[in-house]
Amino acid sequence: MSDVRVRFAPSPTGYLHIGGLRTALYNYLFAKNKGGKYILRIEDTDRSRYVEGAIENLIDALEWAGVKHDEGIIVENGELTQTGEYGPYIQSERLHIYKEYVDELIEKGHAYYCFCSKERIDEVREKQKAKGLAPKYDGYCRSIDKEEAKKRVEAGEEYTIRLKLPVNRDIKFHDAVRGNVTINTKDIDDQVLIKGDGFPTYHLAVIVDDHLMGITHIVRGEEWLPSTPKHVFMYEAFGWEAPEYVHLPTVLNKERKKLSKRQGDVAVGDFKKKGYLPEALVNYLALVGWSPESNKEIFSMDELIDEFSFERVSSTGGVFDKDKLNWVNGQYIRKADLDRITKLAIPYLKEANLITDKDINNRYDSIKTMVSTVQENLSFMAEIPEKVDFYFNDEVKLENEKAEEMIKGEQVPSLFKAFREELNEIDEIDKEFAKGIFKKIQKKTKVKGKNLYMPLRALLTGQLHGPEMADIVLVLGKQNILDRIEYVENNIL
Ligand code: GLU
Repeated sequence: MSDVRVRFAPSPTGYLHIGGLRTALYNYLFAKNKGGKYILRIEDTDRSRYVEGAIENLIDALEWAGVKHDEGIIVENGELTQTGEYGPYIQSERLHIYKEYVDELIEKGHAYYCFCSKERIDEVREKQKAKGLAPKYDGYCRSIDKEEAKKRVEAGEEYTIRLKLPVNRDIKFHDAVRGNVTINTKDIDDQVLIKGDGFPTYHLAVIVDDHLMGITHIVRGEEWLPSTPKHVFMYEAFGWEAPEYVHLPTVLNKERKKLSKRQGDVAVGDFKKKGYLPEALVNYLALVGWSPESNKEIFSMDELIDEFSFERVSSTGGVFDKDKLNWVNGQYIRKADLDRITKLAIPYLKEANLITDKDINNRYDSIKTMVSTVQENLSFMAEIPEKVDFYFNDEVKLENEKAEEMIKGEQVPSLFKAFREELNEIDEIDKEFAKGIFKKIQKKTKVKGKNLYMPLRALLTGQLHGPEMADIVLVLGKQNILDRIEYVENNIL
């Protein structure tokens, strides 16, 4: 087999959907596994769906996810540019090429000019629907003589160009996920290849580009499966060798419906904003539709590259389970370097008005310790303000009746007294104080174990379980703890 070349070919219609990222990822993993090349091509021939800035957005999301292409459109110094020998990699810059190839199809009798108005086509469709038939172009212009058609075009008549599919022929191809597929041409439309506005449709552009760019495997979403016979026929019509096909199962929600924007986050950017780690998202997405041989779940990109194969991609849809993603992301957050997590946490803390720019400069270490106390309990970074909120409250909000019961224990006033005495002896809490304070209170009061720790934890956090107490003491600081004691004495005891 010639060297593997695959492509991800999004249309710049807005944002990168999570399903699109998975398609890109599978292309990338396959290419890297085979030592091949992975290309990013922009399919922007549908001008009505073009969104300004969408290309930059796509590239940004792919880069964030670490799915790096070898050829195609890139951003360099803030400008869109291209790299590779098969360019241009953006279809709107290739219009002259498509023109040449569609002319070849017309000459060979595999495409024809169609002069039907939109009104006529709509009428035909309505009639078919009324008869309970699937709407389809009726072939009205198929038999117009080529020379006559050209004259009409020259005379300025409006036209499209359609593919001339053979009548009632089985078109067969092999798909790596689906196996052998056969579709009869009677179930397929004579596809428009050149639209009224002179632009090619996706179907023409994709064939020409994949061929000229030497693409060996077409890895894309299964929504393109019904279009594939048209493409296979076009390869044949041109006399080209068709690539291998790999149609990936759709990414579904838990109800096994297509993952759509109405149900929440679907854009890669949404996950970035919520503070998912890119390597966790990629790890999880790889498992949506593909299963490794072992039941291992945590994979680095290199491990994914090693193990990935299309044989283990299922044909029945991959379910995107947010809870599972949160679990995977939590695993990555726990393992991540504390400085990295702290830096990721800071924007959320600032946004929630819990810290200021001054704090970031003056109290970075304390913020870091605070983050460390909740690192174990985060599913994604946007959760951090609510997890650390208790550090910023002067009031002690008890989580439940059990906490209230603990803090009202008869030994508690003596604990508070000892705590206050110790605090009054120092200027500010340091590591040593934080580590030793509970032993000191124990010595002074002779209270130990649960009766010592539970009420003090409730005092410091409002909760009965949570991060290491010494760390909490260090983060809260002297005044805050004194205020809390006073608050509990005045309002709870
Ligand atoms: N431009 C198509 C899309 O947006 C690409 C389909 C393909 O990969 O052939 O999904």
